[in-house]
Amino acid sequence: MSNVPVAVVTGSNKGIGLAIVRALCKQFPGDVYLTSRDPGRGQAAVAQLQEEGLQPLFHQLDIDDLQSIRVLRDFLKEKYGGINVLVNNAGIAFKVNDTTPFAIQAEVTMKTNFFGTKNVCTELLPLMKPYGRVVNVSSMVSCSALGRCSQELQQKFRSDAITEDELVQLMNKFVEDTKKSVHEKEGWPNTAYGVSKIGVTVLSRIQARMLNEKRKGDHILLNACCPGWVRTDMAGPKATKSPDEGAETPVYLALLPSNADAPHGQFVSEKTVKTW
Ligand code: NAP
Repeated sequence: MSNVPVAVVTGSNKGIGLAIVRALCKQFPGDVYLTSRDPGRGQAAVAQLQEEGLQPLFHQLDIDDLQSIRVLRDFLKEKYGGINVLVNNAGIAFKVNDTTPFAIQAEVTMKTNFFGTKNVCTELLPLMKPYGRVVNVSSMVSCSALGRCSQELQQKFRSDAITEDELVQLMNKFVEDTKKSVHEKEGWPNTAYGVSKIGVTVLSRIQARMLNEKRKGDHILLNACCPGWVRTDMAGPKATKSPDEGAETPVYLALLPSNADAPHGQFVSEKTVKTW
């Protein structure tokens, strides 16, 4: 088994994820895994970074596929005995003008952004080594969407006692409510991406609480963040930040020094903790 520290970034064949891998290759003292659901796209991205003189490693990972997540889990466990840095970056968003029915957009978006991220965490968080760092890439849109939820939903999402099961039920309820076209009546905002990212931010708060309860002495720090508005296939060419700039806050959280005890369980934007 290797004693080399290891970092893993989901959805890193392009966009912000690729830029996070680039920065980690320069700054993280260990092996950095670029992962992609499509091995061809992943290997092409590895080749691109190699041309820049960097040495990322590759592993396939489709966060929608539990089997794929478990293969990566077993590989990391066997080769490294755990994980030092995990960045949950993979995500999707329908374009504003996409004509796919809203209920389908809700189901598909929730599947990857919330359930995929949650499944990666369920399988990989138990492997986090002491002083490990976990970064869940959410969005400021989670904050604006929260503000457009009913008071009752806002209270639930801000609760310090909400459980992962309760959060899962709420995310499923949103999808079911969109199918019945009652989501707005039920207090949800009209944004599938926004609600899926509420799920990612609240999941991060719950996971940080669980780490406090079960692994306090291990000094693991876990946070959600927003990368900013970044020029990628998702956000388009008008966005204000380059992918490398978008990687700055996620990388800052991934590399919090071993003597840091904060931030933890926070939503962080521009390297600053925001009120949820
Ligand atoms: P992007 O350029 O579209 O890249 C998304 C990445 O996620 C791609 O590598 C994509 O792989 C991967 N992905 C999607 N579904 C996946 C799955 N099931 N399994 C594994 N990988 C999957 O988007 P981006 O702008 O870099 O976004 C990265 C993260 O930042 C997302 O979580 C996004 O919500 C968040 N974010 C972005 C912005 C922004 O302004 N860009 C703002 C706030 C938050 P494929 O190439 O195979 O599709």
